Amino acid sequence: MKSSPKTPSWKTLLRRSVETPKALAGRIPIDPLKIKPVTDQYPMRINPYFLELAIKAGRPILDQVVPDPRELEDSIGMDDPLAEDANSPVPQITHRYPDRVLFTVASVCAVYCRFCTRKRRVGRGKAVSVREIDDGIRYIRMTPAVRDVLVSGGDPLMLSDERLEWILRRLREIPHVETIRLGTRMPCVLPSRVTPALAKTLKKIRPLYINVHFNHPAELTPAAARACGRLSDAGAVLGNQTVLLRGVNDDASVLAGLFRGLLKIRVRPYYLLQTDLTKGTDHFRTTIETGLAIMDRLRGHVTGLALPHYVVDLPGGGGKVPLVPGYTLRKERGDWIFRNYLGAEYRYPAPAGSEP
Ligand SMILES: *Cc1c(COP(=O)(O)O)cnc(C)c1O
Ligand code: SF4
Repeated sequence: MKSSPKTPSWKTLLRRSVETPKALAGRIPIDPLKIKPVTDQYPMRINPYFLELAIKAGRPILDQVVPDPRELEDSIGMDDPLAEDANSPVPQITHRYPDRVLFTVASVCAVYCRFCTRKRRVGRGKAVSVREIDDGIRYIRMTPAVRDVLVSGGDPLMLSDERLEWILRRLREIPHVETIRLGTRMPCVLPSRVTPALAKTLKKIRPLYINVHFNHPAELTPAAARACGRLSDAGAVLGNQTVLLRGVNDDASVLAGLFRGLLKIRVRPYYLLQTDLTKGTDHFRTTIETGLAIMDRLRGHVTGLALPHYVVDLPGGGGKVPLVPGYTLRKERGDWIFRNYLGAEYRYPAPAGSEP
């Protein structure tokens, strides 16, 4: 194989994304006619970096991005399962919890994940306008209860460095905004986006928390590790959100490999998310019992630093709640009886003089 004199920029790679059934059929064995109705409804985008990785790694990566006719057969899911639109005081802001807001500043991504919670809008709607960004920032400025802003999308790293800096700087100037979080899948799906120039831009915004999104150990490539390292070196604190996906990562040893691998590249696992009830994604959902059994297999066996909170974001907009395997077995006259990670029972007595 001939090596190119210069590696293409992330923008060039994006332009070369596979976006039609016909183009995809040129790369992997699929019937373009079978997925055409799917892509008519939900867009496809697989950039060359992620396509190459997916072809090499096989099903767990391919399934995340290759359209599947089952997306059109889902009779359980909802367009907006988390009621993000109903909790939206101004366009692009979802204000569900007292002290923090979700601010969606981009409507596109470097791949379109088939399980995406915002499938109803990413890659489909119009771009987020400057006016909407202005209105979002004004809402945050006028709402002193907001201490934490989650800048998400789509993928906010699809914006230019200049546009991103303009948004982050204006948020940083608001006195009551204590933390800014960026939610991005770029370090995983198109790591070359994390350029030295981007790192330099982000370095000016502190404190900055970045939640990345890796779902499988095969995604932890040297390029992804470099991208994460560059963000950490710029002073950002990195966390990871993983979506629990049937056939992709619903397995304790796969997730243990992922979580330990993330720690090695200075990314702390934050959430393992039970798949939302999003229309078109039912074939990815596991049972909560599966998720609990996985967490039970990890707790105690894998360093606690590697263990995320397993959460379900409640349909209807109730927010996230933790799901924890049952370690508290019963109470005996004020004493708590536990089981440990190996299944043995232990007693924790109440303090002297406390009411039973
Ligand atoms: C997940 C989420 C948050 C952040 O929740 P944390 O538990 O603080 O990470 C905030 N707002 C919305 C709408 C969310 O969905
Ligand atoms: S990168 Fe995130 S927002 Fe974009 S399609 Fe994937 S899950 Fe959805």
